[in-house]
Amino acid sequence: MYISVFDLFKIGIGPSSSHTVGPMRAARRFVFELPAGTLERITRITVTLHGSLAHTGRGHGTDTAMMLGFAGELPDEVEVERVPVIIAETRAQQRLSLLGKHVIAFNPATNIIFNVRDLLPIHSNGMTFRAYQGETQIAERIMYSIGGGFVVDEDEVFVGAPRGDERAPPFAFNTMRALLNMTERENIRLVNLLQANEFALRSEAETNEFLDRVIATMFACIDRGLVTDGMLPGGLKVMRRAAGIHQKLIAERSHQANLPHQIMDWVSVYAIAVNEENAAGGRVVTAPTNGAAGVVPAVMRYARDFCNATQQQLRDYLLVASSVGALCKMNASISGAEVGCQGEVGSASAMAAAGLAQVLGATDTQIENAAEIALEHHLGMTCDPIGGLVQIPCIERNAMGAIKAISAASLALRGDGIHHVTLDQAIDTMRRTGADMQTQYKETSLGGLAVRLVEC
Ligand code: SF4
Repeated sequence: MYISVFDLFKIGIGPSSSHTVGPMRAARRFVFELPAGTLERITRITVTLHGSLAHTGRGHGTDTAMMLGFAGELPDEVEVERVPVIIAETRAQQRLSLLGKHVIAFNPATNIIFNVRDLLPIHSNGMTFRAYQGETQIAERIMYSIGGGFVVDEDEVFVGAPRGDERAPPFAFNTMRALLNMTERENIRLVNLLQANEFALRSEAETNEFLDRVIATMFACIDRGLVTDGMLPGGLKVMRRAAGIHQKLIAERSHQANLPHQIMDWVSVYAIAVNEENAAGGRVVTAPTNGAAGVVPAVMRYARDFCNATQQQLRDYLLVASSVGALCKMNASISGAEVGCQGEVGSASAMAAAGLAQVLGATDTQIENAAEIALEHHLGMTCDPIGGLVQIPCIERNAMGAIKAISAASLALRGDGIHHVTLDQAIDTMRRTGADMQTQYKETSLGGLAVRLVEC
């Protein structure tokens, strides 16, 4: 199936695309797609979470996502300010209105089951939904949240896309080599080829409207993060830093005492602002995941604020970035639960590097080189969030991913595009490295930094 820019960038809520956005969509889907006449008969509904969802679901807001999804809320439409109200009411009243239509008794402590023992076969992030009438089970469905908000069912069919929906853009691709070959054969720039694909699926106006909405949502997220203080939720007592850093940077700018590396601090604070918003359950764009949601916006803001990128160049940035994210997803994974953080922040950094290279006027081979450099230097990175929260190391890790992306784009622009390791090889290496990685380093909070803090 073709992965469009519409699939890759999803407007949703924090803190996790695989543990919040995906499960929320799955829960809604389970209730929404019940056979006619079933909803009204339900007296009890349960969901059993497996694998990484069971290990880190509480810290990642999976229980909240389930309640919202059962209630019929969608990640891109739910009013962020209403989420705590909905959850508090559900917990207090121990009642839930399925799709806002049918009220049942619901106790999150017993109806949401965290099964840390058993894995389901297809992916670590498995969910088994069951509906009952009295003691009789009347519906069951297994789904998997495979990262980036994508959900598949047992047949590995994308949930949300109509079955048999094989959209066929004019330039279908599954490797960067194939993409570059087509650009040479058709004598067309990579970004124009990607536009041709998107415009074949939706009108140019619809595509641009979506891209502008993504840009606006990403920048609004940065702006909220830059002015919001306080402690992040979850119990780690992590204080938000973006607002304080931002204030210092503004003050230093007016003193005209700038040091060259202060630009890096601006990039870092953009990324930190997004990931603090994400950790607080705010509105973010999955890019390609929520844990890694800060990298692509931070580099895009850098392109606008420091490289004078126009709105059209920002659209191009997103299109080129999405093609790299699609390749990572198709040929490896963008899920920390599957391949570690190389798949999340590494993929995001490669996306941002390619996008920035496009903005800065790189050739297509330089764009490929930029993405490859960024990904190569994230290979092997584990996923070990402390306390199962998307805070440490995730927030700072996005800042580092953004800075690496800018360096990668700049290095690629200083070369001629010729290099030893291709992006396709780097992505395949990520897949193999992820397969070799022990489970404890794949979003279970059972290894790495996640256990160091306890020992200290
Ligand atoms: S460590 Fe990386 S992959 Fe794991 S939750 Fe944090 S951002 Fe996501």
